[in-house]
Amino acid sequence: MTDYVYDFAHGGRAMADLLGNKGANLAEMTRLGLPVPSGFTITTEACRVFLSTGRPPPELERQVADHLSALERAAGKRLGQADDPLLLSVRSGARVSMPGMMETVLDIGLNDYSVLGLAKTSERERFAWDSYRRLVQMFGSTVMGVDGSLFEETLTRIEDQHHVPDDSRLDVCDLIRTVESFKDLIGERTGRDFPQAPAEQLRQAVLAVFASWNGERARLYRRRERIPDDLGTAVTVQTMVFGNLGRDSGSGVAFTRDPATGRRGIYGDYLPSAQGEDVVSGVRNAVPLQELGALDPASFGQLQEYMDRLESHYRDLCDIEFTIERGRLWMLQTRVGKRTAQAAFTIASDMADEGLITNRQALTRVNGEQLTHLMFPRFAVTGGADVIARGVPASPGAAVGAVVFDSAEAVRRADAGEKVVLVRNETTAEDLSGMIAAQAVLTSHGGKTSHAAVVARGMGKVCVCGAEDMIVDARARCLVADGLTVGEGSVVSVDGTEGVVRLGAVPLVESDVMHYFDSGVPADGTVRDSVRHVHRLMLEADAARHLEVRANADTPQDAARARRFGAEGIGLCRTEHMFLGDRRRFVEAMILAEGDAERSAALAALLPLQRADFTGILEAMDGLPVTIRLLDPPLHEFLPDRTDLAVRVARREASGAPPDARDTALLAAVTRMHEENPMLGLRGVRLGLVVPGLFAMQVRAIAEAVAERERAGGTPRAEIMVPLVDAVEELRLVRDEVERVVEAVSTETGVEVSCPIGTMIELPRAALTAGSIAQEADFFSFGTNDLTQTTWGFSRDDVEAAFFSAYLEQGVFQASPFETIDREGVGRLVRIAVAEGRAAHPGLELGVCGEHGGDPASVGFFHEAGLDYVSCSPFRVPVARLEAGRAAV
Ligand code: ADP
Ligand code: MG
Ligand code: MG
Repeated sequence: MTDYVYDFAHGGRAMADLLGNKGANLAEMTRLGLPVPSGFTITTEACRVFLSTGRPPPELERQVADHLSALERAAGKRLGQADDPLLLSVRSGARVSMPGMMETVLDIGLNDYSVLGLAKTSERERFAWDSYRRLVQMFGSTVMGVDGSLFEETLTRIEDQHHVPDDSRLDVCDLIRTVESFKDLIGERTGRDFPQAPAEQLRQAVLAVFASWNGERARLYRRRERIPDDLGTAVTVQTMVFGNLGRDSGSGVAFTRDPATGRRGIYGDYLPSAQGEDVVSGVRNAVPLQELGALDPASFGQLQEYMDRLESHYRDLCDIEFTIERGRLWMLQTRVGKRTAQAAFTIASDMADEGLITNRQALTRVNGEQLTHLMFPRFAVTGGADVIARGVPASPGAAVGAVVFDSAEAVRRADAGEKVVLVRNETTAEDLSGMIAAQAVLTSHGGKTSHAAVVARGMGKVCVCGAEDMIVDARARCLVADGLTVGEGSVVSVDGTEGVVRLGAVPLVESDVMHYFDSGVPADGTVRDSVRHVHRLMLEADAARHLEVRANADTPQDAARARRFGAEGIGLCRTEHMFLGDRRRFVEAMILAEGDAERSAALAALLPLQRADFTGILEAMDGLPVTIRLLDPPLHEFLPDRTDLAVRVARREASGAPPDARDTALLAAVTRMHEENPMLGLRGVRLGLVVPGLFAMQVRAIAEAVAERERAGGTPRAEIMVPLVDAVEELRLVRDEVERVVEAVSTETGVEVSCPIGTMIELPRAALTAGSIAQEADFFSFGTNDLTQTTWGFSRDDVEAAFFSAYLEQGVFQASPFETIDREGVGRLVRIAVAEGRAAHPGLELGVCGEHGGDPASVGFFHEAGLDYVSCSPFRVPVARLEAGRAAV
């Protein structure tokens, strides 16, 4: 027979799956000998039976009755007996704690008779009726489903009639009347009576807690916190103790360290003469816990001792709920407490110092997401009436600047030393210079993986996107939000953590952690006190990890910064940015070339520029690998927009002027090159195979840069990476060409140039034929962005806004597969390619260079999959280092 009920004496913290966090920890405290009011816990398994069949398991009633009898025997009183009755609380608690999300009912067992027994003496009369009032109210709303505000209204009406400010001033007669009114209210609203039989109260309360698992609040919370929907909640039934028995009683919450800063010392609130909920709900003002020392030194001393015991037992920050009944301390709850990012680092490091945990354990107590938080500057305020727009918090942090509506203006003002916020409906590659110049990017369209969001995160810029209620009028150079028109140059504050925009400059708090990473550790190893903990845990992560961390960078500046942040090379150096700006005209000339000679001339003009790009990057990364990807995007991305061109040509024609030859030729080219589906069209290796001389020029620029660096006494380590390979033949053809060019450069320069040649694995076919592709490759780099697009058949630019929120809502996935690697599908392809690639080519180097390389939740997967490195944007390098360390512990 299944045991659905466990006495506190028979559980423990290891049983949280079955007993819930609360039940398991109450059992643990009982076993430690702490004063816990006795009770038992009904398992999550019973809840799951209830949720799937609509009724509790048949054995449950009997098992609860048996445990209740034992409880009554031990207490020497019975539930609902007419004099001095046993009262119970019925509490919810899942494996992961969901504070305040589900229901709790206190004072079960009171009815019209036992309330008199509870009162016993006249001085307890008020207390008894107050407790009964609470039970009827709580039971009515949480178990019987009466709208809670109706009880509040009734109570306020009675208070008003008696001209008292709150219920603590109501006398016994008023409370009796209140109970009667509440019972009437329940009768009116539900057609049923408040149950007088204590056993029936208990039965209904248990079922209500089961059902509260699927309450709206609880479901919403689970979705946000990514808690599975099928865990179910346990139900704890516990003897009541009373904090509302007068001045020598009270209730409080406490933390063994400060959950905001992590500092040592006990923190908390205490509310004299109150039941626990009064503290948690904040209805009455509590006093700092330290004041308990004066009010009740004995209890305070005991509490401190128990907190020490709990902390050394759990070896972590504990939070605690307690109640004092007539000078006697009772422990009602403990759990490993939630904490801010700063507190997490401080506590982990301090506890390692104190010998409570090992250095490796300390590493598991922090995570990349927390580190990210610490790296961005933050506003000193949250919420507030001055918020003018709300959107998706796409890239965290705080930024203040003047709004601008195009890149040119952003660059102009930034060059003049002004801080700006780039505001667009959405961004494209063309906005890059503006985004670089800006402190923050704000868009009215797009989600968390829109261009603006991805690029901003990559650059460590603040971004709020998809602020749909904001109207952006780039032509009129203004935006309209919250009824206000905000013109170019007006200052706004963008909070990328909260996803809101405020008018005016809100003060900022600078991040010491960012300063620490960006300035590097001084030679003597000493760091500012405020970053001591981060520093210590980063050292630990670096010592523990197997994964190398490289950066995605395509300028010497980014490369240098990445290096300061701890990057051990460049895993992805994109070359497309090197074809924008002034160089567009050469690209245009190459595309429009009418013969080999013209094309060669255009490419020849690009060669020295590319070579200089590579020389700078190889210098900044001297001694470390730099993986350079040959040109990837479709060529028409470098040409003007087709509609713009067509309009220009038509206007000119209408005006009677002779046609502009260049525009006409461009329009013809753009029209010829137009693709319905450019991401699946002529790009990547396909481009290299059909546009003569393009890859050869890039490879020559790389090889010459290597030779130049060698001659300058450097140690250049360029690696050449071919994008979008589907078939081994593609790679073989490109490889032949690359080897020819490198050989030629070696001969010409007299420097023995050698570059490993590898490929991206970013198409399912490549992953599935990795065994043969590996024979032509020195390394693989998983391009998980494209691999996700092509595995799911999702166009990243379209699906997000169209239906991802609906998919998340309906639970198709719990996180966008573009943010966090889809282990089951995309991850399976990665594993196949790793296994078959290595089998065919031992020593094949394996890395990942998609966005996922810097995603805290994905790094662990890449560790498990056995990759050699992850590569991510420079700002994510510390996060990836930390996560790689955690994964290895
Ligand atoms: P939550 O999960 O929302 O924290 P709890 O189960 O902890 O809910 O209950 C809410 C409050 O009710 C607690 O703060 C606690 O002080 C009070 N409470 C619960 N059980 C008892 C009890 N046996 N005696 C006295 N107060 C209790
Ligand atoms: Mg609680
Ligand atoms: Mg790609």
